[in-house]
Amino acid sequence: MSAPAFFEAPARAEAAEAVADAYRDAFGETPEGVWSAPGRVNLIGEHVDYTGGLCLPLALPHRTFVALSPRHDDVVRVRSAQEAGADWEGSLAEVGAGSPEGWAAYVAGVPWAMGHEHGFDAVVDGHVPLGSGLSSSAALECAVAIALADLAGLPTDDAGRAELAGACVQAENVVAGANTGGMDQAASLRCREGGAILLDTRDDSVTHLPLDLAGAGLALLVVDTRAAHSHSGGEYGARRADVERAARALGVPDLRAVDPADLDEALARLAGQPGAEVLTRRVRHAVTEIDRVARTAQLLRAGRVREVGALMDASHESLRHDYEVSARELDLVVDTARAAGALGARMTGGGFGGSAIALVERDATGEVAAAVRDAFARERLRAPQFLAALPSRGAGRDA
Ligand code: ADP
Ligand code: MG
Repeated sequence: MSAPAFFEAPARAEAAEAVADAYRDAFGETPEGVWSAPGRVNLIGEHVDYTGGLCLPLALPHRTFVALSPRHDDVVRVRSAQEAGADWEGSLAEVGAGSPEGWAAYVAGVPWAMGHEHGFDAVVDGHVPLGSGLSSSAALECAVAIALADLAGLPTDDAGRAELAGACVQAENVVAGANTGGMDQAASLRCREGGAILLDTRDDSVTHLPLDLAGAGLALLVVDTRAAHSHSGGEYGARRADVERAARALGVPDLRAVDPADLDEALARLAGQPGAEVLTRRVRHAVTEIDRVARTAQLLRAGRVREVGALMDASHESLRHDYEVSARELDLVVDTARAAGALGARMTGGGFGGSAIALVERDATGEVAAAVRDAFARERLRAPQFLAALPSRGAGRDA
């Protein structure tokens, strides 16, 4: 059984040189600099960011690069290697809610949200799979944001990065019109090599945690199912409405406020509400998931990475049965990876498609990937794509 090919991240120097070359082809001069920002994968803590919860993402080695030079006027000119023939040029004055349309919103929305008056010329080259739940959108925004911050002499310490993440969220929510929380941008800007971040979505505070996968002889296998998340928009809104209604019924600001020790009592209080059976399951997911993130953080602090596998398994079951946001392809990855010896596996991201992750013995990575590939082939599903997630550095300058 030969292992499938992995989608590898290119070496930093080569990727930076390639995007600088593309800039020279586009604009006939050398760019002022090259910056990049990573995609991310969430280890645990799903669908709890809109109820005051915790999540635990890490930056992928896969990054989006941008070669950029500032301009003296308010014009933005940008092209992307991933959007051939869809170059965009416009003035910052025309950027706002829903404008521009298409991919350029993720670029032009950033100086708009940062309140910048001057434009720039830029070429983008991304190595994060687009639309796979690995946050190519945040990687793009954050690469532009770190470039603009660097050129403007803005602080790029953790507090400065938290500010930039807020601007990128604004760009995504308002200009691109995508309803997302702040995990992706926080991960892309604030992660550090060799670690994950514990993000508290109540106040956006971040705690850096060690995640030495290689030292533990482990690997984090990412499987991009390439299944479109067709129902994700409406279902996302419906889940949000469920947890907000449950919190109101329980008289708490958010479900983070429910102590896991008091869960049974809280669930009993939901009896008699319209749709109590569904609400009960939604609340059980949120409260137990937030608790699992806290327990994962404790394990990482103690260097007990292997034991995270069981919490990943429990997270997936909760998302599958109680929160009902999984998909056939995600369940197939999880079930197959576990049967092939993974220490734990779960869907990651919003669900209904996108990606799943498996914690595996490093030497067994190829074997687990092959088992997943074969299971997809047997079920006549589109071939998935495999990536290895070693915790990588956040956004920064490359050249
Ligand atoms: P995800 O963030 O999970 O990859 P999204 O739907 O949030 O999926 O974002 C994907 C969109 O972001 C793409 O459809 C495109 O508009 C934009 N995008 C991301 N990376 C690039 C890139 N390298 N070049 C151009 N557009 C990009
Ligand atoms: Mg996205």
